[in-house]
Amino acid sequence: MSGPPGVGIMVCAGCGQVTPWTPWDRCSQECFDMPRATPQEQQAAIEAAPAAYAYFMSHAPGEEIDEGLT
Ligand SMILES: [Zn+2]
Repeated sequence: MSGPPGVGIMVCAGCGQVTPWTPWDRCSQECFDMPRATPQEQQAAIEAAPAAYAYFMSHAPGEEIDEGLT
């Protein structure tokens, strides 16, 4: 057995695209903001939103974001 396949990618739960892995099951802030299937998932998404927002801001493709310079 070698390593598991598909490490570093995932299928986005928002748009369904194969995308670089994120901790949020979504490829982007836009997809993260999509309505969730259940109230529980919706609540979890709301609670995770600040951390997810920070993640997507710092990982946005093609965007250089100044950070840590507050
Ligand atoms: Zn997506």
